[in-house]
Amino acid sequence: MNSTPRYLRPRRRTREVAVGQFVIGGANPIRVQSMTSTETSDIEATVAQIRALWEAGCEIVRLTVNTRKAAAALPEIRKRCAGIPLVADIHYNHHLALEAAPYVDKIRINPGNIGSEENVRAVIQRANQFGLPIRVGVNQGSLERDIALKYGAHVKDNILMPPEEGYPAEALVESALRNVEILESYGFTRTILSVKSSNVPLMVEAYRQLSAQCDYPLHLGVTEAGTKDNSNIKSSIGIGALLLDGIGDTLRVSIAARRTEEKIEEVRTGFKILQALGLRQFGVEVVACPTCGREDQGFDTTRIAREIEERCADIATPVKVSVMGCYVNGPGEAAEADLGVVASGTAARIYRRGELISSQVPFAEVTDRMVQLIRELAEEKSAR
Ligand code: SF4
Repeated sequence: MNSTPRYLRPRRRTREVAVGQFVIGGANPIRVQSMTSTETSDIEATVAQIRALWEAGCEIVRLTVNTRKAAAALPEIRKRCAGIPLVADIHYNHHLALEAAPYVDKIRINPGNIGSEENVRAVIQRANQFGLPIRVGVNQGSLERDIALKYGAHVKDNILMPPEEGYPAEALVESALRNVEILESYGFTRTILSVKSSNVPLMVEAYRQLSAQCDYPLHLGVTEAGTKDNSNIKSSIGIGALLLDGIGDTLRVSIAARRTEEKIEEVRTGFKILQALGLRQFGVEVVACPTCGREDQGFDTTRIAREIEERCADIATPVKVSVMGCYVNGPGEAAEADLGVVASGTAARIYRRGELISSQVPFAEVTDRMVQLIRELAEEKSAR
């Protein structure tokens, strides 16, 4: 979707950077990514999780390359995940980036721990050899030592302690821009940037400042955002605030989770954020009234909405559905949806794009009927 949804600031135009089959930045769709939680050296588990994430809609999958064994697993993972954009996540040991490069579509480095400029130069040369982009992933928790000290850190028992009030946004931005300068000094511009923090206002401010100072595509995320509920809220606020301002080209929701089903939640939340802002449409979106004492007796709005969501979770084609507990706002919401069901006395009415197509549908049959209509419409849309 290229046009800006109403009430959003126009999307900031960034450079375009290809990551595998997708182009990040410019007017391209904002891509949703995630990261595996498996040991990369466990090829079976890693491939299974990558494929599950991909099937759930994840468009770019990052995996840690933290050991030689992990790097050695990449050729087989690449072979079994052909076509899926893969990103090697590198910390501390730049040699692992050099080993990973032939088998991935992007390299992520953390400037706070990649070491000397010489190491960065080696990664650039290798990235150039394979035409790869590099994400400079700045993280509030691992800033370069000199930047940390400049912005208020102190050393205690040989450990770098952050300032009591936390680092300012400027520290994250300085780290990102310093690395942009290094990359540019070698003529490298296939760069994607992130300035993540677990502090939502700090992260929002850092991205705002960064977006005002360069035109590289931005990867949005609230890092270490916590378990599902906390992360969903923090990510929605942080990433959502930036997207409303037209900032951001790809995003990752970070949930503290290990199981594949929980990792898939990162993808679902990512798409829900984009969907809520009208930036991407994905799957079945159910609008349901909150219910009140006026809900027609025997019609269970909540149950029907949940059942539709669960039974249509496999549909990727965008279909907007409304489920309304009485006639008050029912027809109005139905007119804005592809398919709408409204309780009306002792039976339900079903609308397609505002036009009444069934009346007198027994409440007990509503879910089945709606799921059938949603599937038919999804097929019709995807055949166009
Ligand atoms: S649509 Fe009807 S039942 Fe639902 S919240 Fe509104 S008034 Fe209440």
